[in-house]
Amino acid sequence: MSLIIKKVEAIPVALPLLKPMHMAGVVITKAYNLIVRIEAQNGLVGWGESASAPTMTGDLLPGMLAAVEDYLAPLLINEDALNHAQLMAKVSTEIYRNTGAKCAIECALLDLCGKHLDVPVFDLIGGARRQQFSPMTLLGSGSSDQDIADALAKQKMGTQFFKIKVGARAIEEDIAHTLRLRKELGSKAILCADANMGLTASETVSYFQATESVNLLFFEQPLRSGNLNGMAQLASRISVPLCGDESITSVEDIVTLSNAKAIEGANLKIIKLGGISSVVNAAVLCENIGLSVNLACKVAESSIAAASLFQTGAVLPNLDWGISVTNQYLAEDVVQHPIATINGVFTLDRKPGLGIEVNETLIQKFTLK
Ligand SMILES: [Mg+2]
Repeated sequence: MSLIIKKVEAIPVALPLLKPMHMAGVVITKAYNLIVRIEAQNGLVGWGESASAPTMTGDLLPGMLAAVEDYLAPLLINEDALNHAQLMAKVSTEIYRNTGAKCAIECALLDLCGKHLDVPVFDLIGGARRQQFSPMTLLGSGSSDQDIADALAKQKMGTQFFKIKVGARAIEEDIAHTLRLRKELGSKAILCADANMGLTASETVSYFQATESVNLLFFEQPLRSGNLNGMAQLASRISVPLCGDESITSVEDIVTLSNAKAIEGANLKIIKLGGISSVVNAAVLCENIGLSVNLACKVAESSIAAASLFQTGAVLPNLDWGISVTNQYLAEDVVQHPIATINGVFTLDRKPGLGIEVNETLIQKFTLK
């Protein structure tokens, strides 16, 4: 019955995006991600993935690679993967932070255990409360015309939930763009905005005053991640609820921001909190202290991370601010059947583990030498 770990590999990849994604302070054309492959003595293989995220977790690919190879892999070799909770307790204390590396390890461990026990990951982490999702689409092409064309095309395919990237151009342009999107998409569409720390408090207030009629569901991370007082003051001046993203790197951050009344909801990413279990715990905390939850992949991650996110989303008590995966922004995925929506809906089935079939040839194609 045991599932002894034989080999742990850390594979750095560069995955090209279909189109550049323009966010405040950065234009992303390639995703530099770490893929972890854990092989058991019985031949089963589990997969995990984490994006590097210099402005979010601070994790860089060479550091993530070293964290797995030099610190975390040695803890796992010859251990029983079915003891994943005990193993993750060791992983979480072996090295400070490095949440991306820890996240990729946990996803791979759970994928492996699920395949061995012939159950989906969501059965291992509490059981599904939902298996259908209507994911949101990010609008960040850098061109208002292009974003509107993309949004209308997505809307035709059933998507009604959009996150507008703001803060990368003059605030007047963001205002005009947001008003235009509401007009083009109609009142059915759910719109929210994300500034990725790219605005000042006064710019944010101007943006709100001018876009009040748009009825944004929430506004994500207008100010720098460390600016707790600024976020709290801003929250008291505007009526749209604020969501923390870059400012949340731990469960403690969620408590601090909530106590300061700086946020009404949290963007949870498994790369920020160090794995699936930590996100489940954080979401339970959010539920208990009355915060909304948005669950998201980083731009961009493949179907390995997308599957991990949906497995996680299945068990959370609340997902009222939506879910976004990012594999659709990649020029090419690394699995046989990439995660995709039908009429705007993704349905999680009961395939074992993460429910995906990784194509090792594609992994090799994108591996950084
Ligand atoms: Mg964000």
